[in-house]
Amino acid sequence: MNRPLSVLAAPFAAAFGSKSATAAEGPFEVTRTDAEWRAMLTNAQYRVMRQEGTERAGSSPLDKNYAAGVYHCRGCDQALYASEHKYDSGTGWPSFFDVLPSAIETKEDNSLFSMRTECHCDRCGSHLGHIFWDGPAPTGKRHCLNGVSLVFRAA
Ligand SMILES: [Zn+2]
Repeated sequence: MNRPLSVLAAPFAAAFGSKSATAAEGPFEVTRTDAEWRAMLTNAQYRVMRQEGTERAGSSPLDKNYAAGVYHCRGCDQALYASEHKYDSGTGWPSFFDVLPSAIETKEDNSLFSMRTECHCDRCGSHLGHIFWDGPAPTGKRHCLNGVSLVFRAA
């Protein structure tokens, strides 16, 4: 999706450690055609991961999963989040206060009249969720994720 305003958001994205304010447009290490994405994902997964949709709150079994392990990207299997960083935000979405190194990219999302930081897998560009600044210490961040974008692998 073309977002001309993303250029203006670059300094903000940089503050989150982003490599590019328009990162979701690629290029990415893992690329697939739209037909390939549709073939490998369910409609619900495709809507979230490739169209930046949001799953219904409380719909993901991963929201209440606190087993030890690592959460991988459903699109390319890259390790993204560790169970040590997961917490119950009470929002109904799997929430983390930190992310594994070199796993995600961010961009400013000014849709719906709100200023949110979108985050996606830095290897395949699949949308994961949004980052807010109301998370717990030590980061103060809340990575609010869609469970359908993730695959949990127990330790
Ligand atoms: Zn990925």
